Order: sequence, then structure tokens, then C-alpha cells
Amino acid sequence: MAKGKLIVLTGPSGVGKGTLLQALLKHHPELYLSVSVTTRAPRPGEVHGRNYFFVSRGEFERMVAQGELLEWAEFAGNYYGTPRAAVEEQIAQDNWVILEIELEGARQIRHTYPGATLIFILPPSLEELEHRIRGRGQDSDAAIARRLLRAREEVNAASEFDIQIVNDDFDQALEAIEHALYATAAC
Ligand code: 5GP
Repeated sequence: MAKGKLIVLTGPSGVGKGTLLQALLKHHPELYLSVSVTTRAPRPGEVHGRNYFFVSRGEFERMVAQGELLEWAEFAGNYYGTPRAAVEEQIAQDNWVILEIELEGARQIRHTYPGATLIFILPPSLEELEHRIRGRGQDSDAAIARRLLRAREEVNAASEFDIQIVNDDFDQALEAIEHALYATAAC
């Protein structure tokens, strides 16, 4: 019998966790991906309600004050948070919920949901990561510099997570995530 579960996917900017996540959701459409709230401006092609709920700082602060976020953090000058209601509803219905969030948020979840499965995606190397972030060409130089600094901090905290997966070969990394989630599901 299925039981609700919270899964946290964390890894530095540019590590490819978004692409891994999309592939995982394709293989397992029963997984529920939480859509975060952010004060960051939408990137080209991003859709409100699908990629994020894009809100003002004022609205974000109101949500924090009202306890509407399960966790939240500031990242590279913007706020990001997980809406509480949808996640709790899905877990109550015995669904598996995935949060794709940064380190501070993952730490908060580890405290509030000790049963959560925390997965950290590592780059093959920091040099490779820098190459990927710059190659993406989506952010300003200042934003890239902030993201690189944060990436180093995050990689140093990888051992805090239950499972560490290196995204060197995409298919192998995806398989490792699936194994981490489903190999223990029968327990
Ligand atoms: P991006 O701006 O590249 O979409 O996301 C920046 C970082 O914020 C990524 O590491 C992403 O995982 C993280 N992030 C996205 N949504 C949330 C959230 O709801 N909470 C937290 N703590 N981090 C988030």
C-alpha cells in the first residue's frame, strides 16, 4: 500500500537537477512536483503556476508571516519557498511529493519532516559546474558570480543528505535516483 512520502532534491545551480527531475516525472507520472513561490523575475519561457508562482516581495513576506510556506530561503538575492497546503494535502492522500529546493530549505525540511528522503545531486567537478552555469547564458554576470559562490557552499554540505548522486552520466544519475526512491519503497 502506498504511503505519503516527501522527497527533497537539492544540488547546486547548473548541476542539471531540473532536467533529471523532468525525466523522473516522465517515468513516474504518479509523483507530485511541488511548484514553489519566488520573487525572482520569470526567465524567458517560464510560466506562472507551472515553473513557479512569481510573486512580489510583499506577497512573499505576507505568506511567510501567515505560515503559508513549509520552508523558505533567500537565494542569489531572491526569495524562494514551498507552499505548505498543496504538499500537506498530497501527502495526506498518500502521494509522493518532490521538492526541488536549495540547501537552506532542505535543512528546514530535515527538521520538520525527519522521514523525508533527501537527495543531493553533485557535479562531476566544480570546474564543470562553472562551465555549465556560464554556458546557460540566462543570468547576469553578477547573478552567475553569486550562484557560483553558493554552489561551492552547497557542494560542501552534500554529506548532510541521505543520498549523493553525481550527475556525470545522465542516464546513470537518473537510474540512481530511481533506485534510491523505489528500491526502499517496499519496506
Ligand atoms: P532558479 O532561480 O535557478 O530557478 O532556482 C534557484 C535555486 O532555488 C535552485 O537551487 C532551486 O532548487 C531553489 N529553489 C527553487 N524553489 C525553491 C523553494 O521553494 N525553496 C527553496 N528553499 N529553494 C528553492
